[in-house]
Amino acid sequence: MSTTRQDLLQAFDALLQPARFKDYGPNGLQVEGRPEVRKIVSGVTASLALIEAAVAARADAIFVHHGLFWRGQDGRVTGWMKQRLALLLAHDINLFAYHLPLDAHSELGNNAQLGLQLGLAASARFGEQDLGFIGGRGDGGHFVDSGALAAHVQQILKRPVVQAGPSQKNIRNIAWCTGGAQGYFESAIAAGADAFITGEISEPQAHYAREMGVAFIACGHHASERYGAPAVAGQVAAQLGLAHEFIDIDNPA
Ligand SMILES: [Zn+2]
Repeated sequence: MSTTRQDLLQAFDALLQPARFKDYGPNGLQVEGRPEVRKIVSGVTASLALIEAAVAARADAIFVHHGLFWRGQDGRVTGWMKQRLALLLAHDINLFAYHLPLDAHSELGNNAQLGLQLGLAASARFGEQDLGFIGGRGDGGHFVDSGALAAHVQQILKRPVVQAGPSQKNIRNIAWCTGGAQGYFESAIAAGADAFITGEISEPQAHYAREMGVAFIACGHHASERYGAPAVAGQVAAQLGLAHEFIDIDNPA
């Protein structure tokens, strides 16, 4: 089975509704490749390693969360940008990238899928553009302290986490937002969170955590965003009868 580049773009757009978001770069088709698509490779970031893996996997399209183009880039096609673009163009592979729309999708997005992995159920959304999810354990239980929550996250994501803030406190209300969402910590606190989980921590958040009595858990930008792209690409591939493979290029950050 195959589809056209245009029908694939329409299927992604219909699911993720990029027009609803103010974003840091263009969502949708970022690099045009061949018109007919049989196989999609999904991944977190359009790195050279992912593009090489997609070439080896004979993909016609790549679907990622972090594409090639961001606001504030200087626009020159040199260095790593030249290498990535040259490989894509040489193999006529389409690059589709969806940033905030992929974080936000209520069932297939990065936040929804991270919640699923961690056994968390969202009861509300918070923060700018409603990207943050807040809720609690899907089984209605709680974590005895933030150390127990951190250990749980560590075990599921199979990597160490950075923890700041109180430990001797029951954790019921848990807020989360994948990636580099440390800037959402204050809105998570305002939304009533006992703990906030995101990918990265910056210096100020450790103090806010201690001073506001809300735990902060940084579980890795990449690790927190591994689940949305395969969920969306898998669903669209099934819908259009295409082959799909998720390729995880490990990233310690
Ligand atoms: Zn990200």
